[in-house]
Amino acid sequence: MESIRAESIVKTFGKVTALNGIDLTIEPGELFFLLGASGCGKTTLLRCIAGLETPTAGSIHFGDNNVTRMPPHKREAAMVFQSYALWPHLTVGQNIAFGLEERKVPKAEIKQRVEEALEMVQLPGFGERSIDQMSGGQQQRVSLARALVVKPKCLLLDEPLSNLDAQLRVEMRREIRRIVKENGLTGIYVTHDQEEALAMADRMAILKLGTIGQIGTPEEIYRHPRSSYVAGFIGETNLIEGKVLEVRDRYALTQTPAGAIVGRLTDPDFTPAGGDLVQLSIRPEAWRLHKESGDNPVTGKITERSYLGQRIQYWIETPAGRQQVVEMNPHIIHEPSETPITLHSRHDDVIVLQPTTV
Ligand code: ATP
Repeated sequence: MESIRAESIVKTFGKVTALNGIDLTIEPGELFFLLGASGCGKTTLLRCIAGLETPTAGSIHFGDNNVTRMPPHKREAAMVFQSYALWPHLTVGQNIAFGLEERKVPKAEIKQRVEEALEMVQLPGFGERSIDQMSGGQQQRVSLARALVVKPKCLLLDEPLSNLDAQLRVEMRREIRRIVKENGLTGIYVTHDQEEALAMADRMAILKLGTIGQIGTPEEIYRHPRSSYVAGFIGETNLIEGKVLEVRDRYALTQTPAGAIVGRLTDPDFTPAGGDLVQLSIRPEAWRLHKESGDNPVTGKITERSYLGQRIQYWIETPAGRQQVVEMNPHIIHEPSETPITLHSRHDDVIVLQPTTV
């Protein structure tokens, strides 16, 4: 197991600054996710770690080794691509063996290691098949086997599941996590799929314009976002403008167009004063519809509802804007109507954030 450390990484392409001072330590054996809006630098950071790009400034360390200028094949890191990048005219076995042949591994050992790699990805005995006889999911397993056969310490995955259908993606999530953990690998995984990240990650970084927005476990990122960018990026959220009336013990009492709302301050670097403008982030499931009384009452009218079986989604027009509300396992279904309805939310479920600057 190996740690991976990025220190003050800057990467520019001509006038474009793709990475603007990234500091990140990934612990040995951790499965770490990189997320963020399109163009925020996820792939560039992964490629710098893989050695496919050289940073303009800063350094990359695998354990105690500074690998910044080391070629990719010497880094003990293997990469898995969205496109699989398999050779269509070679068999499954030949595709997997490719990296070992380049490393001049003896033939008998190659045969054994290819078979071991196929077993790891649950495709034993498939070595003689040609690539075009394999399904999309099987091809992705072959590309994983090809990465694993060189016995890397780190596995770098660039949107590995995005070409698969929804059900297969969910199956492969567990499979990839199992492979990383069973082989003691340190994994870095780039994805656009927030649910994939929440389900699989030990920790994740949300990138924003080439910098790190926040690092944390899935729960920390979802429950304690420190900016509206992070709150809006992972999961859905309602954002309400407010003005601070009072701050006490990391809770702020705010005045909003829908009345007074109390929420929690999550960013240790942000302590607003009375009169400051803030943004309140309230998850759809944090609003409660049925309670007769409770904290943070807000009155509105149901304008739309969408029944989704295990949950129901409402849109409620309030003086603070349209709120999305989600109720799990609904027993009572409300219909859109002119009758006022009151929402409540616990103080702990309202996050008080700095207003968005971008
Ligand atoms: P996406 O989610 O869309 O894949 P990303 O977060 O992976 O995006 P990158 O591919 O790392 O983002 O790109 C970051 C920025 O660097 C973008 O503005 C992109 O256009 C630019 N960029 C990336 N590679 C190159 C390159 N080879 N030449 C010029 N600009 C590049």
